[in-house]
Amino acid sequence: MRRFFIHPDTQISGEVLLSEEESHHIARVLRLVAGDVLQLFDGRGNIHDAEIVTVGRQVSLRISSSRFVAEEGVPLQVCQGLLKGKKMEFLLQKCTELGVSEFVPFISSRCQLKKTEQQKLSGKYERWQKIIDEACKQCNRSRPMRLAEISSLENLVQETVPNRGLFFWEEEKKCSIHTVSSSPLETGLQIVLGPEGGFAADEAQAAEKAGFQIVSLGPRILRAETATIAAVSIVQYTLGNM
Ligand code: SAM
Repeated sequence: MRRFFIHPDTQISGEVLLSEEESHHIARVLRLVAGDVLQLFDGRGNIHDAEIVTVGRQVSLRISSSRFVAEEGVPLQVCQGLLKGKKMEFLLQKCTELGVSEFVPFISSRCQLKKTEQQKLSGKYERWQKIIDEACKQCNRSRPMRLAEISSLENLVQETVPNRGLFFWEEEKKCSIHTVSSSPLETGLQIVLGPEGGFAADEAQAAEKAGFQIVSLGPRILRAETATIAAVSIVQYTLGNM
């Protein structure tokens, strides 16, 4: 069944009017007509089955049934050092598919984005949110991944809850992800992954002091985007979310 994201403030009574953008997609791109059925979701767990009543500048729908779906599984927050080019967009899509609850982009000492590029990032949010919404539709999630404001590694370290976070450091030799016991993972987990330039030793030390567990993904140095997908997959499997 086709799924469409509606704004959480959309009034859901007998009939619903979709936005002009969604209406255009239904009428012009998918060429759906009156009588076709589809599913509306608002990203907060509310899902509505609906039938198209009229197709025009704004499509109107009649709601046939509604339900609420609670958050899926143990929440996982991914904190990602800012990456260059399309890699952030790639990770937003993959982390949505992998069931990540929240994505927090951050700036750290070895981020390779120039200051001018960092200043332009707020303009990317609308596009980043669209990528998350599209991935959410494609993978049939009832709630999209939350996208947080750009933070800094210092803030993340200061604000973390001790023993609830894994800090993936490419120089870590002792503690492998295998040895992370699943016990502290029940109530949700925060994982931190670095930018292309990696993490400086003092950043890893500050994270450890704040209560993060410093972990390795093995002897090979993975590309940043490979490391994030590998870490999320292993942790989601351990949390029982895959
Ligand atoms: N600075 C290194 C270099 O340029 O060769 C690599 C940094 S790596 C591309 C980016 C991030 O991926 C790291 O900061 C870390 O979070 C993660 N990562 C990559 N390989 C890892 C490993 N073997 N163990 C733990 N984390 C790893």
